[in-house]
Amino acid sequence: MFAVMNDIPKMIPQKLIEAARAQQRSALDEQAGKSLLASYGISVPQSLTVKNAGEVDAAMTKLRAPVVVKIMSPDILHKSDAGGVKVGLKSATEVKDAINAMAASPQIKAARIDGYLIEEMAPAGQEIVIGGLRDPYFGPLVMVGLGGIFVEVLRDVSFRICPITRLDAEEMLDDLKGAAVLAGARGRKPASRAAIVDALLKVGGENGLLMTHADDIAEADINPMIVSDNAAVAVDARFILK
Ligand code: ADP
Ligand code: MG
Repeated sequence: MFAVMNDIPKMIPQKLIEAARAQQRSALDEQAGKSLLASYGISVPQSLTVKNAGEVDAAMTKLRAPVVVKIMSPDILHKSDAGGVKVGLKSATEVKDAINAMAASPQIKAARIDGYLIEEMAPAGQEIVIGGLRDPYFGPLVMVGLGGIFVEVLRDVSFRICPITRLDAEEMLDDLKGAAVLAGARGRKPASRAAIVDALLKVGGENGLLMTHADDIAEADINPMIVSDNAAVAVDARFILK
């Protein structure tokens, strides 16, 4: 099949979930996850999925370099750990080389491969994480944290029960011990607080994604969302179905 453009605004969110269930999948693949986010107004990079290196030339005429290539496989959860992410590719040749190298790696060879996601690089910024999970008593919860070691090592995260208000979203950011990083510590540009608050409301607010799909989504993980001084772009998305 030819490369499929991520047909973002037109996809009906519930259909993405039904399609995954029809294939007996317990999670949405990355492209479906990003389509779901986009249908709630969250920014995602422009992307295409190809089956192999032979489809790259056509795909690259529709995307703006530099791009990232990522393995798409229901068997690979942590793509970087499997050698399945290559960022900063500047040409179709670099993309093909990256795909061929991935296809030849033992860990990827052993997995079921859906294809390779080629996506535009998000503008540089601060990496944050937005997550969601379902508490058996309280229902959907939304989480925010700063990316990298802040979440993984320091566990500097903040949770609220959904639906959250704008004030809740602001307070969630104030709760983070590393909040100063967002304001542009160490000579970095500030990350747009407004863009993060907006994304948190789209995920955890009254008509947000987690409330709307509370019966279907067990866990949500946007890791990372890259926040520049004027935008917040979800560059990785994982949704585990109930
Ligand atoms: P995984 O978490 O499965 O290893 P990701 O999709 O999160 O894979 O990609 C790994 C890292 O590559 C991200 O944390 C981010 O730093 C970078 N990255 C991924 N996609 C993009 C993108 N579109 N633009 C910029 N950086 C990206
Ligand atoms: Mg990730």
